[in-house]
Amino acid sequence: MANEKKKALIVVDVQNDFCPGGSLAVAEGTAVVPPLNRLIKEFLDHGEPVFKTRDWHPARTKHFEFYGGTWPVHCVQNTPGAEFHPDLIDDPRITIVSKGIDESADGYSGFDGTNLAEILREQGVEEVWVGGLATDYCVKHTVLDARGAGFEVKALADAMRPVNLNPGDGEQAIEEMREAGAEIVGAAAARP
Ligand SMILES: [Zn+2]
Repeated sequence: MANEKKKALIVVDVQNDFCPGGSLAVAEGTAVVPPLNRLIKEFLDHGEPVFKTRDWHPARTKHFEFYGGTWPVHCVQNTPGAEFHPDLIDDPRITIVSKGIDESADGYSGFDGTNLAEILREQGVEEVWVGGLATDYCVKHTVLDARGAGFEVKALADAMRPVNLNPGDGEQAIEEMREAGAEIVGAAAARP
């Protein structure tokens, strides 16, 4: 075990607004919950760090369609839609990373405007495992930024789901993650 890399789990934006019934629902969004819960439990049992990112927008942000952005209103700070999905494991050992706070930025990545990279380095983490919502936005950008910050990445293909504004966006995102040097694990890894 001495050679095993120190790793951390990053659960991206498993929040009510991204799940069925939410304002920006991802198809089958809740399908990511069981595999992520298994990993959360496994990481915590081994004393390995677990992070949950959350989209945490101000009510007025250029990220929203009404103010010139792409998206319907979602995950506004302190609203029910911004809460983590109730079935996702909650535990005091999990570190919550809030992002998307800057009203002039999209804030897709868990590393954008946060101290996530510093915390990971302080803890000696070399490899991050990433899953959550949505594959083609916040998961992808978190994976790409993790690679850019020098971390090895396992992208958990079975524990993420895409928005697919355009058909195939999710698969394209997985290819971008692979090209950036992330290891794709799970069923989608078998795709050419
Ligand atoms: Zn957002």
